[in-house]
Order: sequence, then C-alpha cells, then structure tokens
Amino acid sequence: MENLTPTRYWEICPLDNKSSLLLHLLTGAIDILNSDEVIVIQKLFEDGEIFNLPDSVKFCLTERGYLSNPESEQIFIDDLAKRHQEQIRKKPIECFICTTFSCPLGCSYCFEGKLTTEAKAKAINTEQISSIFKSIEKIIEEQNRPLKEIVLFGGEPLLPITMNAVSEILKQAADRNFKVSVCTSGIFCEEFLPLLREFSEVVSVVRITIDGTQEYHNSLRTLPSAFERAAIGIDSLLQANIRVMTRTNVGKQNVDVIPAMANYFVERKWTNYPNFEAIITGIKDRGCLGDKGQLFREDELAFRFLEMRSRFEAIRFLRPVNIFMSLRHLATNLGHLEGIVRLQDAVTPLQTIKFHGCGATDGTLYVFGVDNKVYTCTEAIGKPFMSVGKYFPELDLDQNRVGKWQGWHKYNIPECRDCKYLLICGGTCTMSSVSQFGSGKKPVCPPIKNIVEGYVSALSSRIAIV
Ligand code: SF4
Ligand code: SF4
Repeated sequence: MENLTPTRYWEICPLDNKSSLLLHLLTGAIDILNSDEVIVIQKLFEDGEIFNLPDSVKFCLTERGYLSNPESEQIFIDDLAKRHQEQIRKKPIECFICTTFSCPLGCSYCFEGKLTTEAKAKAINTEQISSIFKSIEKIIEEQNRPLKEIVLFGGEPLLPITMNAVSEILKQAADRNFKVSVCTSGIFCEEFLPLLREFSEVVSVVRITIDGTQEYHNSLRTLPSAFERAAIGIDSLLQANIRVMTRTNVGKQNVDVIPAMANYFVERKWTNYPNFEAIITGIKDRGCLGDKGQLFREDELAFRFLEMRSRFEAIRFLRPVNIFMSLRHLATNLGHLEGIVRLQDAVTPLQTIKFHGCGATDGTLYVFGVDNKVYTCTEAIGKPFMSVGKYFPELDLDQNRVGKWQGWHKYNIPECRDCKYLLICGGTCTMSSVSQFGSGKKPVCPPIKNIVEGYVSALSSRIAIV
C-alpha cells in the first residue's frame, strides 16, 4: 500500500444537507458519504496524506480506486485512448452535400444565420456534382475507409430549384451503391416524393425538423404553413415506406410543448409506422447563436427530459441524442438511462467513458458547399476562412487547414490530458475551438463542474423519477 496516493480524479458533490456523492471520474465508482466522512475524505484528497488513516479505511478506499497509483491511472487512460484510436480508424466517412445555401424558412435559432437568406437562390450544378463524387471516391481511397452515407444538406436541400440537382445526386449515388439521407424542413417533401420513391433503395432516411406543436413550430419560422407542409410530407413518406426521423431541438422556450407534440405524433398515427423514429436533442451554441436565454445547461435539460419521461407516457418513444454528454457516465451508472439508450449505445467502458470526438475531429466528416469549398463541420459552411480546401474543378485540400480540425481528440490536447474530467467531459467542440483560437488544439470547456454538481443536487429531490 505504500505506493498508493489519493487519486486526482475525484469529485465530491453535495446531495443534500446530510450526504454527498463521492465520484471517481476514471473508474466510475460512486459512493455516498455522510457529512463527517466528507470532511475526512476532502482533507485526504486535498492534503494527499494517507499515513494517519486506519488500515480498514485505507483498504476500502483502495478497493474503490480512490487510493491508487498515478502511473496505473495513466496506463488506464492511455489504453483507453489507444482503443479509441483503433475504433476511429474503422469509422466510416460521412459526406454532406449542400444542394443550396438558400432556405425560405428563416428559423430563429439556425446556426447558418443570414447565409440562408442572403445567399443567392442558387442550386449546385451538374459539373459540381460530378466533382463532388470524384472527390468522395478519392477520399474513400486515400483514407481506406468505407462511406457511411451522403447527406443532403443546405440551406434547405429540397427546394424546387434543387430538384434537378437532387435527381442527379441520387442517380450518381445509385450508380455507386452509396446510400443517401436527407436533412430537411419537409416543406417540399410532397413535391419530391416521386423522386424519393424512385430512389427508395438509395434513400436511407429523411430527417425532418419539428420543433414542437404546430403553433410553436410555425412561430419560429417566416413561412406560416411550415408545420402543416412538413406533416403532410411525413404522412406521404411513411405511406411510401420511406424511413422518416423527426428531430426536435429543445431549448427553454419549447420544452413545455414537447408532451403535446409527442401526443400529436401519436394521434397522427406516425408512431404506428415501423419506418418512423423521433429524436430529441438540446439546442447547442457553437458561438454563433448568442445567448438568447433559450439554451439549457446539460444537467438542466437531462433532468427535464427524465422528469418528462416519468410524467408523460406519450414521450417515451422520443429518443434522446446528445442530451447526456458529460453526464452520460454518471447517469448510466446511476441507472437513469436504462431502457432509454439503445442497445448499441449501451454500457461498455468505452461508450460511457469516452473521448466524445465528432466527425470533424475524427476526419470522417466532409461537407461540400455550393461555394466549391470543402468543410469538415456542417456548422462551418459558408464561412470561407473555415474551409479546408476546394473540390471544384478538382479536390484540393490544404493540409495545414485540415490539421486545425482533425486529430484534436482530448487525449491529444495538453489541457485536457491534465484535466481530471478528461474521461467524462462531453467537450470539446472543434468548431468552437477554431472559432475562438484558430485551431482545435485548445479546448473550449463546458461548465463541467456545475453540470455534474447540478445533476447530483437535483437527485436529492427527484431521485425517484426513474
Ligand atoms: S474540454 Fe475542458 S473540461 Fe473538458 S477535458 Fe478538456 S480541459 Fe477538461
Ligand atoms: S466540430 Fe463541433 S459543431 Fe462541428 S461536428 Fe464537431 S461537435 Fe459538431
């Protein structure tokens, strides 16, 4: 036991006046301490002095990993990082094609901002599409990874002006056996139905954003009939046996309409279709929304979500995506995600304790703009200084620029390697780092301590919610 020292991966979070949770941020151990124990354990971690501890206490703390060998902890982290890199090497590529930057909806929270309204209503042309497909083939070959799918993106990818472009993309994808999904508002799905049906073997899913009830959804948009048109589109796609996934972006302003929205989905019989799925996620700000008071901190949204699930049967089919980021590990170990996460997201050390890389960091995400530029994050589109090269007339990536985005997993970022939250933190976002510091090399930290403490403190009053 002589080589053991108090771990630096600890956190004590007050649960109520009498007790606190002691968290081990590497092993995932969670223990309840009374107020006397908190004083002793806190002093132990702060002073690093273990000689005065009774052997029985030392034994318990060692069993739970709170007394540990720093070298073994580093080996554990390095091993996880190695396994994470191996997983990434197998990850397939996802390519987004913006058929236009234009969009008539003017959603108030859109990260693309004025790009969608100020961009000339211009669709991508046939020559550009041919160059994109050549570029995708080159990227697949150079990276020696498969393609997961092409995602039609915008602006709004399904507009009357993009009909020919979408048709051409679907044809070229079919020729190569590529899958195509669509991210759309759904307002022109009716018009696109014959085309989507013709290429139903190619179209993997149509993702449609629905922000709440009809009234709420329309209140965010300049097009008054946006909800009704999307709903008619969803009816038609489901009847045509095309897979539909609705996506609801939740913030403080719409959280209360979620149960009514879910009821509507049930009443409209969408949930009866096996080809229907609905996800909810939090509205995120990568630095371009500004704080308009609509964003939840992660712990606030996580609790609202769990609370809603316990009170409203109708929302149980809504699948949370990226609601539990920094809290994923804690919520999983506390049993809060049982029956909520899907099997493939379920509990394995690498999936709950992980480094939260995205495609922009992994080198698996490429976005092709109408402006002939290539981006590695959808949120960077239309900002030429954030592009990593061009695809027209042929692919030309600037490796200096690529290096600002790719490879910056937390275990490669010096500040993160030294941070005790390394394995649970849901940060950092490379887009935010590039915006603030010019490269992903520096972290943009979520308010991780507040998130964890906020979640634990909410437990005292709501521990029975799940
Ligand atoms: S992003 Fe910040 S909080 Fe998260 S691991 Fe890195 S340094 Fe720590
Ligand atoms: S860099 Fe940030 S905004 Fe871009 S895909 Fe990654 S997490 Fe999302």
